[in-house]
Amino acid sequence: MVGFHPAIHTFVSYFPWIATHFTPATETGSMTASYVIIGDGIAGSSAAETLREEAPDAEITVITEEGEALYNRILIKEYAKGKLPEAPISIHDTDWYADREIDLELDTVVTNIDPDGHAVTTYEGETIEYDKLLVATGGTPTQLPVDNSDADGIHHFWTFQDARNIREHIEGADSATIVGAGLLGIDLAAICGAQEVEANYLMRGDCWWRYALTEEGAEIMHDAMRERGVTPVFQSGVDHFETDDEGHVTQRSTPTASGSTPTLSASPSASTSTPRSCRTSTSNRTTASSSTSTCEPVSTMSSPPAT
Ligand SMILES: Cc1cc2nc3c(=O)[nH]c(=O)nc-3n(C[C@H](O)[C@H](O)[C@H](O)COP(=O)(O)OP(=O)(O)OC[C@H]3O[C@@H](n4cnc5c(N)ncnc54)[C@H](O)[C@@H]3O)c2cc1C
Repeated sequence: MVGFHPAIHTFVSYFPWIATHFTPATETGSMTASYVIIGDGIAGSSAAETLREEAPDAEITVITEEGEALYNRILIKEYAKGKLPEAPISIHDTDWYADREIDLELDTVVTNIDPDGHAVTTYEGETIEYDKLLVATGGTPTQLPVDNSDADGIHHFWTFQDARNIREHIEGADSATIVGAGLLGIDLAAICGAQEVEANYLMRGDCWWRYALTEEGAEIMHDAMRERGVTPVFQSGVDHFETDDEGHVTQRSTPTASGSTPTLSASPSASTSTPRSCRTSTSNRTTASSSTSTCEPVSTMSSPPAT
């Protein structure tokens, strides 16, 4: 796969802003300034490390909604494929933060920022005050705007925990559907191929990554998918998901070519929906239906991702 993820460009383009506005305490004259960093991805964690080096006396708090410290997000696909164990994916453990006197708040979702009051509020209702704040929240998948898109068996694909869930479910699955013809969707296709799970890969256009590749380039990718048991399904999308009595996803429904009549079919058809998230779901061998994933890099953060 080639090219940079859009979030990288976003981060790089904001870097001058961070450098200008997140000046360490030693440069502002205050030795005990407090810094809050929302996000423990590579951006947030690196900022905390640099701050500690530049401002030895500062209070530094890193907040993350995830339940574990920094890991290599790019490698989680290798874990989901079954090609890597957990250990090499982790970058820091909690001791790394403790050793640097950085307060790491795991499993903590920031729901509000009060810039005038210099405070953030968490989902649990805690208020954390700051002198300076860095928002390093990266990208977070949002849910497909269709019925049952939060059904059991549909996964986001952004966190290490998502990768664990996908790996666990895909190991017991016999079929899958992938939605979202972008760079993360192709990762899901590769995961299905590596785990020898047959998949349909739904794409809204006539080819994978249609905005970036030529027809010839896309055809190379399509052939590679087919060789791995992943069938590209063009002009297609998801209208809604069907679930069983226990709320587990069993089918994804595509609209007809006119987009007017939802049908329970895996046949190619045009989609009226716009995938906005990076999700996958699997159905296990006890069901006769497909599993579904959709994937699109997103830049906004709202609520904690459903798992
Ligand atoms: C499967 C996958 C494959 C990828 N492959 C590549 C690749 O090959 N090449 C490449 O360049 N890029 C790739 N990327 C993209 C790359 O991982 C991201 O661009 C990078 O992780 C962004 O880093 P970040 O620190 O800005 O944000 P993130 O890594 O997204 O970290 C954001 C942090 O903010 C936290 N957070 C968000 N909202 C809140 C909140 N409200 N409260 C508390 N905490 C919050 C999150 O929990 C997380 O800790 C891939 C991404 C994925 C998911």
